[in-house]
Order: sequence, then structure tokens, then C-alpha cells
Amino acid sequence: MSIIPTFLRSDTNLMPVNDSEQQFFAKIKSYLNLVKFYEDVRVQELVRDVVPWKQLTINAINKMIQLKQSINCDDKDIGTDSKDLLLIDLIHWFKNEFFEWFDSAVCDKCNKTMTSSSITPNTEELFWNAMTVELYNCSDCGQTYRFPRYNNPEKLLITRKGRCGEWANCFTLICRALNYEARLVVDWTDHVWTEVYSNAQKRWLHCDPCEDICDSPLVYECGWKKTLTFCIAFAYNEVQDVSWRYSNDHSAIRLRRALSCREEWLSNVLNKVTNNLQLGLTSPQREQLKLRRLLEFVEFLRVPNQQNNVNQTEAKGRQSGSQAWRLARQEITEQQLSDHFVFELTDPSINPTLITYNCSADEYKFNAKIVKSWKKCVFDCENIMRKVEKDWKMCYLSRIETNDWSPSDNKVGKISWKLRFNDDFDWSEMRITFRCKVFENGRILLFLYSKTKDTFIEITANNENIVKKSELPFAVIENELILETILEGGVGKNGWQHSQLFRQSLTNEFF
Ligand SMILES: [Zn+2]
Repeated sequence: MSIIPTFLRSDTNLMPVNDSEQQFFAKIKSYLNLVKFYEDVRVQELVRDVVPWKQLTINAINKMIQLKQSINCDDKDIGTDSKDLLLIDLIHWFKNEFFEWFDSAVCDKCNKTMTSSSITPNTEELFWNAMTVELYNCSDCGQTYRFPRYNNPEKLLITRKGRCGEWANCFTLICRALNYEARLVVDWTDHVWTEVYSNAQKRWLHCDPCEDICDSPLVYECGWKKTLTFCIAFAYNEVQDVSWRYSNDHSAIRLRRALSCREEWLSNVLNKVTNNLQLGLTSPQREQLKLRRLLEFVEFLRVPNQQNNVNQTEAKGRQSGSQAWRLARQEITEQQLSDHFVFELTDPSINPTLITYNCSADEYKFNAKIVKSWKKCVFDCENIMRKVEKDWKMCYLSRIETNDWSPSDNKVGKISWKLRFNDDFDWSEMRITFRCKVFENGRILLFLYSKTKDTFIEITANNENIVKKSELPFAVIENELILETILEGGVGKNGWQHSQLFRQSLTNEFF
């Protein structure tokens, strides 16, 4: 049986000439079959039963209101909408509350990592489109655990675990069920994610549920150092080569791709397949999709970040979209949108002047004012995130969570806050308390200095530090003080969380 669809066979120009072109057909066919699941209205109904979409929608609308207030922008030009914001929260919810990563099993009796082998699925597993089953085995007690790699997203709504394949598959289904235009993006170098069309921004947004990121398409090439070749997006109504969105070195991608298939052949095949998928649509529907596709091709002509050196921050992704959108994602640091935040201490009559941060509520209290989000009042920060442990009901700031953290990188996290005293704000004493907790060989260092770090004083964690201005070993230049925290150390793959700043229980409203 030929894997080449009938409608392509009539055109000899579309015939594959080598193995990798042949494999292209097989992949296209299997992913188009997969994305059909997302259109099943019965399954979509099941999705809406498990996703807290009402609450997420209310939150998104509220966030939109806040966002409009914070940037003082009239509705017309904000460049994003509550559906975009809902998408960010949906990804976050999916990763943190719904789906679980699975790539190894530990024997619950011996606490030993089990070895795995690949076996043939049984009838039940085949029914849910598991092509392979991982069988985990404990070499001490012989206990086994089956992990079928289900491809049917309906089943994944129940099992809720796997690797990127399962994650992206289930997440794309959820997007479709919540009425987003969504496609499954398959990266030939072994990763899968989702793209969602933003009506407000008139473009496709990259969404990676495994990473809890939205609209950072360069993360793979710049962050993960992947050498991409083909990234193909699949939906019920189109197949699109979206590789160009994920690279800022198009000529290098072209060179690599030339080894496996002819560019013209690929684009002809994808166009033909897309036309065929759209046969059942009305002509206005087809026109609309054609326009969307055209705009996307125009987008691909611009090479993201071509003019810039991709630095650490940009490695997280191209900065695009309106200011509101960039703020909403919190992926762009506040510093890039405005100056570094400084606590201006202007009113000496408020005594004592109080600055607190409550990690559980993720809010600062500065005198009577409340500022939401730890990032908002930071002067500078690097490699820091706010971690919420739903299971232990704890939260804290830590270094950025990664799946492949190794102590040898021992990536340091830094966060600092700046205070600036008004000229007539004559202070004599300051009290500083930092709640920290470290595990294994994690370390947290706290420094107080002015302008430069040549001379500083060290602040002790979990104690009240009384700092007297008259006893400082340095001059307070321009009335400014910087309080800097460094998170380092850590053992094993969870080393990133072995230094915890402001650790507190989620149920504590105050600390
Ligand atoms: Zn065992």
C-alpha cells in the first residue's frame, strides 16, 4: 500500500525521490490523522469538563482590566486581548496543575530507579493509539510498571502524563476545545509544541506547555542550542512549514535541510495537502485562511533578531507584540520596558518606612501601597523565578527550574532591589530581615552596598539585621543603596531549588 495520498499521485512532480522525502509523507499522514482527534465535538465536551475554563476566563478578563490601567492605554490600541491572556494562564495551569512529566520510574518498594525496555502494546493500549509501551522493571524486587505512550489525546485527559509528545498533543486538544485556532508543531529534531492563533495580534503564537512559555520561538535555537531543520505545523485545515519562526539563521537551516529534501518539492506538497484539507470549506472561509497564510509567509521573510546579538535574555525568545502583551507574559523583564525599579523613599514623616514582600500573595507592600508580582519592584535580576509547590503548598523565589539542571553548570541566581532616599530623608537606622531556606549545599548570600560592590556589608539570613548609617564601611553615594541576593549551590537535578528565598506556606497570608 502506498503512503502517498491519491490526490498527490496524479502529479509526478510531487513524487518523493529519496528516503527522507518518502518519510515526510509518512509523517504528514500520521500527524494529520492525529490532529483529527481535536475536532471531535464529544471529546471537546470532555475537555471543558476537566479544564477550569470559567475561572481562567474571569482571571483573564480581570488581568486585562489591570493591564489597561497599568499602561494607560485606550482599548483600541492595546495589541492584545483577554483571550491571549487566558492562553498564558492556560499553559501555566496545564504545566503546574494538570499534566505531569514522566521519563523514568522509581520502584516504590526499593526506591530504586527502574530500567526500561520497549514492548508491544496490548489490545486496550492499541485502542488508545499507543504504538509502543515502556516497561519499567526493578532489578531488585522484580516489580514492573507499564507506561503506554498513548497518542489518543482523549486518553491523555485521564492519564495526564508523559513527555513532550503527550504534553503537546493534549494541550493542543484543549486549545481547540476552548475555541482557539491551534496547530501541533512537530520539530524533526525531536520536540513537539503547540501554536495558537491570536486574533488580536493577527499572528500565530508559539506555546510550549512543557516549558510554560508563550511566544518565545527562539528558545530552542538560542536557549537549547538546537540545530533545527523542519518544524511543521499540523491542523485539521492546513499543514504549514513554520521552521522560519524558530530560527534566526535561515541560511543555516536551508543548508541542513538541503541534505534531506528539495525545498520546492516540500512547499508544493504542503500546499497541495493544505488545499485538499480545505476542500470542504466555503469559499469565504478558504479566502480567510489564504490571507492568514499569506501574512504568515510575510512574517517568515523577516528574520527575527537578525540585527541583534542574541543575549541571555533574548535567548528566551524574540521580543514581539505590543507592550501590553510583553508585560502580560512577564517573560520580558520589567527592566526592558522601563528603567530598573527603585524604591523612592520620599516621605520621612512615615516612620518607620516599611517595605515588605509576601511571597504567598506575590505582593510588595511599600508603605500603604500594594504592588503585585515580585518582578515589579526588582532593580535587577538574573535566573530567578517564583516557584509554587502545589503539592507541598509552599512558595519561594529560586533559580529558574529546568529539567536538565546539573550542579556542574551551577548557575547562580541574582536579584537586587534599590532604595533611593530623598535629600531630606535623613535616616539613621535600617532593619533588614530576609527569610531564606537552603537544602543540601545550597547557599544564599545577601549584600548591602551603594553604587558599586567594592565595599559592602553582609546581611545575615533569617535574622533581624540592624544597619546603622554611621557604621557603614562605605559612603552612601547619591543616596542610593542596593540590596543584592545571590542564590547558588545545590545538588542533583533539583539543585536549582536548593536555595530558596522568602520561602513560606501558600496558606500564610502574612509572615
Ligand atoms: Zn523494587
